[in-house]
Amino acid sequence: MDPQATGNVADVLQRTAARFREAGVDAPRLDAELLLMETLGWSREDLYRNPEGELQESHAERFESLVSRRVRGEPVAYITGSQEFWSLDLRVTPHVLIPRPETEHLVETVLDFLASRPDPCRVLEVGTGSGAIAVCLAKESARAEVWATDVSAPALDVARENARRHGVERRIHWLRGDLLAPVRGLPGCFDVLVSNPPYVPNGEIPRLQRDVRDWEPALALDGGADGMDFYRRIVRDGVRHVRQGGLLAVEVGAEQGDDVSRLFRAHGELRRVRVRPDYAGLPRVVTAERVQGV
Ligand code: SAM
Ligand code: GLN
Repeated sequence: MDPQATGNVADVLQRTAARFREAGVDAPRLDAELLLMETLGWSREDLYRNPEGELQESHAERFESLVSRRVRGEPVAYITGSQEFWSLDLRVTPHVLIPRPETEHLVETVLDFLASRPDPCRVLEVGTGSGAIAVCLAKESARAEVWATDVSAPALDVARENARRHGVERRIHWLRGDLLAPVRGLPGCFDVLVSNPPYVPNGEIPRLQRDVRDWEPALALDGGADGMDFYRRIVRDGVRHVRQGGLLAVEVGAEQGDDVSRLFRAHGELRRVRVRPDYAGLPRVVTAERVQGV
């Protein structure tokens, strides 16, 4: 057996974190803890309460196999099959983008808007991936009925499973197809159109962090030559699906706040364009309200 994984919990964590650090892993200690929790079926509290616990040989072997996957660059969320988002435990597979903490700002923005509306609300999410946004909105707002689209059938399977896991499957409708094509027959029907579309300029994909570039689906990242393809299509084909007074809300890359707001302002039926920063102070969410054209 590999000596790296033998010993007590505290020693194993320390040695694994050092190994991860050497391999250039971003959050070495956290990742070591998550993989040990997965191996032992323990919570984080269990880890902290039992630093002296000795690993059984079978656990040590299993842990070593997970650790070596991480050393090769595979993200922890794909190794464990889960990621926490908005305090919900979500299933993830390599068919879906791993939900990012920044995207919680988008969820929060939409929830604030829904709270200001008196009646049941129809929400359309385009590019749902793991279903992180759709599931959170349905879970947090009992008045929301959600339609969520994705072009990827395996991603929709994951999203459906997440909705079941969190008891909101009856308030989410899943639609497979290219962006707004699945809702073509329903103009002006939604109170909110929300999306975290692929937005990485394709020339930048080779320069992304290795874990993202080599492991996450290109389909979830590639936003075309300037990263703006999906925003242009959402504005062109999506605004007419938003009710008068309804909200369009998108996540943007840190450099895209100005370009996306300009695109929104240039559309005759969008008003009150706003850019919201994330906790790091970077532009992260752009919103606008729909007004009817004259
Ligand atoms: N909403 C999830 C989140 O915020 O974590 C996933 C967002 S991911 C950046 C973008 C998603 O858009 C992916 O799930 C991808 O499959 C989907 N997508 C890519 N091209 C699409 C298209 N033409 N029509 C619909 N969805 C598309
Ligand atoms: N935020 C993602 C990244 O870290 C990009 C997600 C997207 O394209 N919407 O690369």
